[in-house]
Amino acid sequence: MLMPFANEPLTDFTREENQKKMKEALQKVKSRLGREYPLIIGGEHVYTEEKIVSYNPSCHSEVIGRVSRADRALAQRAIETAAEAFLSWRQVPPEARARYLFKAAAIMRKRKHELSAWMVLEAGKNWAEADADTAEAIDFLEFYGREMIRLAQPQPVTPYYGEENTLEYLPLGVGVIIPPWNFPLAILTGTTVGPVVAGNTVVLKPASNTPVIAYMFMEIMQEAGLPPGVINFLPGSGGEIGDFLVGHPLVHFINFTGSRDVGLHINSLAARIAPGQKWIKRVAAEMGGKDAIIIDEDCDLDEAVAGVITSAYGFSGQKCSACSRLIVVGDAYRPVLDKLAERVAQLKTGPAEEYGTDVGPVIDGASYNKIMGYIQIGREEGRLLVGGQGDNSRGYFIWPTVFADVSPRARIAQEEIFGPVLAVIQAKTFDEAIAIANDTEYGLTGGVYSRNRAHLEKARREFHVGNLYFNRKCTGALVGVQPFGGFKMSGTNSKAGGRDYLKLFMQAKSISERF
Ligand code: GLU
Repeated sequence: MLMPFANEPLTDFTREENQKKMKEALQKVKSRLGREYPLIIGGEHVYTEEKIVSYNPSCHSEVIGRVSRADRALAQRAIETAAEAFLSWRQVPPEARARYLFKAAAIMRKRKHELSAWMVLEAGKNWAEADADTAEAIDFLEFYGREMIRLAQPQPVTPYYGEENTLEYLPLGVGVIIPPWNFPLAILTGTTVGPVVAGNTVVLKPASNTPVIAYMFMEIMQEAGLPPGVINFLPGSGGEIGDFLVGHPLVHFINFTGSRDVGLHINSLAARIAPGQKWIKRVAAEMGGKDAIIIDEDCDLDEAVAGVITSAYGFSGQKCSACSRLIVVGDAYRPVLDKLAERVAQLKTGPAEEYGTDVGPVIDGASYNKIMGYIQIGREEGRLLVGGQGDNSRGYFIWPTVFADVSPRARIAQEEIFGPVLAVIQAKTFDEAIAIANDTEYGLTGGVYSRNRAHLEKARREFHVGNLYFNRKCTGALVGVQPFGGFKMSGTNSKAGGRDYLKLFMQAKSISERF
């Protein structure tokens, strides 16, 4: 009998013993920077001449690691290897497949602070954000393992006289997994082990900004004893191998999380039938957001502003769930702006590894330039209330920024910035606030702070997002508790951490026998 699923607890870093453990983990990881890492195909370590070099965004002269970079020939080998491994992996009983995940979760738990330390240094996450990322990765392993066991049980069908009828879920085949850099362990783990525990085999192409933490995941799956070829590790550039993998005739599904433009490109590429392809490819694509929190006139304004700040500036706003639009109703507008100006200015911006940093760097030079470009646009479209500065001399730091008096159709109120920039919009009524909130092409998360029951009920019905939160932050969906995935251009609503997830990578077979 397994323990029922429960979310992994977060670490309390106000306790000195935990601070000490994290500092030791950072020291340990620092002593291992700059190493070389291979690709892994069918369990074999392959070193290539060409490398992806991963840097610390808090200090861009510091090399985290040099990771081998696949070309098309290696991509072809990885797919063929996955196709071969599928023949045996699909025969492994579902409970046995799940045990590899439970073992991996146990290993991650033991290496928790070390994994978080890698993310602090490679992705620029502050301690709390990195700790939550590791905890979520453990959750995905524990949750999807149990989900597979549930789906392997006899599935309900209506009894029919004179026949035995059953329904069972079978895996699809070979999948390509393309996770993002912003949850470099959690989303990478979830998008990989979900399909894998369902009986599929995969080629995993990690994000080029965070390939070293991705390698740590591979190490853990190997230590857990996962058979070779079930997960093939294939770092490489999108241009060189991404399209090739997605378009390959042996591939059955693509599980992608990342930007809207790349997601739509993958979707159209996957729709084309390659010569020799015998099925329609499935695409799960989780993409962007332009998420809004509404602050109603009747609510606890201090709590609301605190929730907005966490949602907007956690991991420098680099979450598709981040609050990037704040819509304030009526008379609450002035006091909310005053409170925001005061509290956002108090946030501590700096290197992610320093204890107490609220806002770390953004991921790389291209992101830095893009976000600073939007801050320039914001100066023309709104009134700069706080922030606006950047400094990329040592790391890619952008101070948390608020623009007030922004029009709902302004570019900074419509386009995903993926940085620490908040656009504040005033609405005359709650109805108008909902209309503004819904007026984007995205529909991922949303929030409402209100004490007005009628308004909350209206938002329940009409606020058109996949993850809606009342009187709390709009980030940090918990596995099993708030299945995650949005509407509209935010993606295919795959609901990561939910009970529908594994079925996206399976097909159901109905068998009927008359005796
Ligand atoms: N699941 C995360 C959250 O609820 C966001 C994931 C993402 O940014 O891709 O905050």
